[in-house]
Amino acid sequence: MASKSSVLESKVYDFIDELADEFDLPVIPLPEVYWVGKNFSYDRIGLFGEDREDCKEKASSGKSMFIVSKNIIVIGEDSPVHICEEATHCVHFSNADLRSRYRRKEGFLALNSIIEMIGFFGSKLQSPSRKNIYRAYPDPLFDRKEYIKFEEKFCFDRENYFIYKNGYDMGEKLYDAYISSEISKEFIRELLLNDFSKKGSVDLMFSYLKLGVLNFENRLPTQTQVSR
Ligand SMILES: [Zn+2]
Repeated sequence: MASKSSVLESKVYDFIDELADEFDLPVIPLPEVYWVGKNFSYDRIGLFGEDREDCKEKASSGKSMFIVSKNIIVIGEDSPVHICEEATHCVHFSNADLRSRYRRKEGFLALNSIIEMIGFFGSKLQSPSRKNIYRAYPDPLFDRKEYIKFEEKFCFDRENYFIYKNGYDMGEKLYDAYISSEISKEFIRELLLNDFSKKGSVDLMFSYLKLGVLNFENRLPTQTQVSR
């Protein structure tokens, strides 16, 4: 019988193929995929230091993770949502070559929000019913008063909150905009290939998405709508 890891691996590879077909993406180096089950060993996959601690923490709460430095996906829950979000991260990192950039200080919040947006978007393509658990929480940019109260009441990592709140909210909207053809396949393809190597370009893209094209609630009426 095939091991659980190899079954998950083929599910990841299938989804990587689907994304490549959908957005006409180049072939990427395929990741190794592991199931955090009985026989899982951090030593065997050669995971040490910060990555190991990070992965242990996530795995202990049933989360999944794409380990960028190793091109490894660790799955904590056998579900299409987990499999497809991590597979999308892998496709995104390989195509846009974000490996050297995603932990840098410059544009950190913006880039990581975009990374989570794309991960959430990818998972929605496979699981349209996925709920955005961050939707009910206050937006640090739009609901400032509620956000400050929320911060006083609960203890959490601010940067992490910013990244997932924005990433998942924007990912949900990106999906809605994509399936209603408001955003084109080409736009998604460009996002998946954008390496944001130009100074300031990631902050600009984040603002454009958050405040402009995906700002469904607060979008200003366009010129044509005003004149009508
Ligand atoms: Zn993610």
